[in-house]
Amino acid sequence: MRYWDKAIETIQPEELEKLQVKRLQETIKRACHVPFYQHRLQEAGISADDITKTSDIKNLPFTKKQDLREGYPFGFFAVPLKEIVRIHTTSGTTGKPTVVGYTKGDLDNWSDLIARNLTMIGLSDDDIFQNMVNYGMFTGGLGFHYGAEKAGLTTIPSATGNTKRQIEMIHDFCVTAIHCTPSYALHLAEVAEELQIPLDSLKTGIFGAEPWSDQMRTELEEKLRVTAFDSYGMSELYGPGVAFECPEHNGLHIWHDSFLVEIIDPATGEPLGPNERGELVITPLTKEAMPLLRYRTGDITMLLDDVCPCGRGRKIARFTGRSDDMLVIRGINVFPSQIEHVLLSIPEVAGSYMVYVDRVNHMDEMIIEVEINRQFFSGELADLKTIRERIQRALRDVLELRTNVRLVEPGSLPRFEGKAKRVIDRREKM
Ligand SMILES: [Zn+2]
Repeated sequence: MRYWDKAIETIQPEELEKLQVKRLQETIKRACHVPFYQHRLQEAGISADDITKTSDIKNLPFTKKQDLREGYPFGFFAVPLKEIVRIHTTSGTTGKPTVVGYTKGDLDNWSDLIARNLTMIGLSDDDIFQNMVNYGMFTGGLGFHYGAEKAGLTTIPSATGNTKRQIEMIHDFCVTAIHCTPSYALHLAEVAEELQIPLDSLKTGIFGAEPWSDQMRTELEEKLRVTAFDSYGMSELYGPGVAFECPEHNGLHIWHDSFLVEIIDPATGEPLGPNERGELVITPLTKEAMPLLRYRTGDITMLLDDVCPCGRGRKIARFTGRSDDMLVIRGINVFPSQIEHVLLSIPEVAGSYMVYVDRVNHMDEMIIEVEINRQFFSGELADLKTIRERIQRALRDVLELRTNVRLVEPGSLPRFEGKAKRVIDRREKM
């Protein structure tokens, strides 16, 4: 097993706690240069000196994406603009984007984290790395680029577009590792097959920027003949490199010396324990230009309790959706991705489904309409009943909730162009 920075990657809990407390105090002091945090910390009556253990973090205020938007453009910078050497923005679907600034030290820390990840998955100066993501304001391109160079990889900044040329470069330059979105990787595999250009040199695929399932992993690994690794990050926390799968492929290592991790119930803000699914909240511990306190990522995961054989710190589970999508049904948190996962595992189910939530006699009711394959739909009524019961049972096992499943004819549910809206909450908001 190779490490980029063995001492910090395998740091023991006691020492880690001390380092985190020290860095958290420093982060709070830096945050005090931002008026937003000055006010919030004053309101909460707390200063850096009040932090004596990491669990004291619960007394600090949260930061939300909306807060950052309201600081547009430079309201969250804690250093003079003179010290900022790079700016990225995150795409906002509405209104102004969020601006993220970096000092020289930030860029150094960030590329170091990427180098750790690449070394962890076995890449080195023997590898040729093609970085097939956007090199503009999006952090995926430049972020990976500098980390890969730091780790000594022969780095090709191919960016996006022109799939034929991407394939030719992989072939001609004997590229061993690629980074792109999982959906682009599948497209790449298909085009390579059409062009009959073999991609035999490939061995590693790093996929991120959108969630992908284990089924997709199998497909990617078969079609591209690579080992696939999941990569997680977001621009507000530098960019990519926050968490990464190790060769065990059983959760993602998150770098605890650089990010203080909490999992909270997205509805109440209360902390959750290991193996309890909730929203990931991160306090970056080394950011200089733009320190953040308890940043609500909106991403759903859980802290895993097991010790990884690779010797690195505690992992988080692969992501299962966004807290914005979460439904609270009879007091139980339900993520549409859980429903989708169950339905996709049942062979009789065709692609499409819809979820409706109603309140009947003060009780929440969830109706799930599911398209099933035509051969079953035109079959015996008794068979349909069995299928329906099986789906309801599978859903109850996962959601711990009774649902009302209705089987419908294939093709009868709405089709979506772009982002599907499969959940309709018809309850009156209280
Ligand atoms: Zn590991």
